[in-house]
Amino acid sequence: MSFSSLGLLDALVTTAAELGYKTPTAIQQKAIPIVLQGRDLLAAAQTGTGKTAAFTLPLLHKLTCEGPKVGGNQVRCLILVPTRELAEQVLTSVQSYSRQLPISSYAVYGGVSINPQMLRLRKGVDVLVATPGRLVDLHRQNAVRFEQLQLLVLDEADRMLDLGFSLELAEILASLPRKRQSLLFSATFSDEIRTLANKRLNNPLTVEV
Ligand code: AMP
Repeated sequence: MSFSSLGLLDALVTTAAELGYKTPTAIQQKAIPIVLQGRDLLAAAQTGTGKTAAFTLPLLHKLTCEGPKVGGNQVRCLILVPTRELAEQVLTSVQSYSRQLPISSYAVYGGVSINPQMLRLRKGVDVLVATPGRLVDLHRQNAVRFEQLQLLVLDEADRMLDLGFSLELAEILASLPRKRQSLLFSATFSDEIRTLANKRLNNPLTVEV
């Protein structure tokens, strides 16, 4: 199996090759076609399996093909992560995979000043990577708007619950459009994760690697 056979845009196939990715990993082979089809996804995958590219490559494909561009505090794709470190890491991956595409990306997290984040969000962003606590603060101040949100990723969802972000997650998820595509990645499928998936995903396909 090759990246070109997965149906991704040529620009993404070229970028993967330039990064030295010869073949898609198991999670990429399974998840990329599901995301491209527009289905919701519940995926069990550990760090190191290539899960970031498994959701980022098809998301970038969809955002590039589907337009329109964002403005005015709007976000088209939201990636929620448990920690500031992971937010920075995922943003770096998104920027690297989108380097040949007209896609903007940005990360917001706590522990740093909120004002520069509020300023940057004013012009809108295609892909926003966020930790739940800071995103709730920004949303309560109307610094971020979700009317144009098409895609949601919950990355390391089990860690978000372990870190006590259930209420923040509930507040954010309640403010998103119901008509959207949602992907949930977790290292394990606990009862709590299955409950979250049942409530927030729409008839998802499940993959485990
Ligand atoms: P992740 O599981 O998303 O944290 O990715 C783990 C590492 O695998 C990262 O350093 C990626 O750059 C790398 N990676 C992701 N996909 C591939 C691939 N198809 N071939 C080789 N390396 C990859």
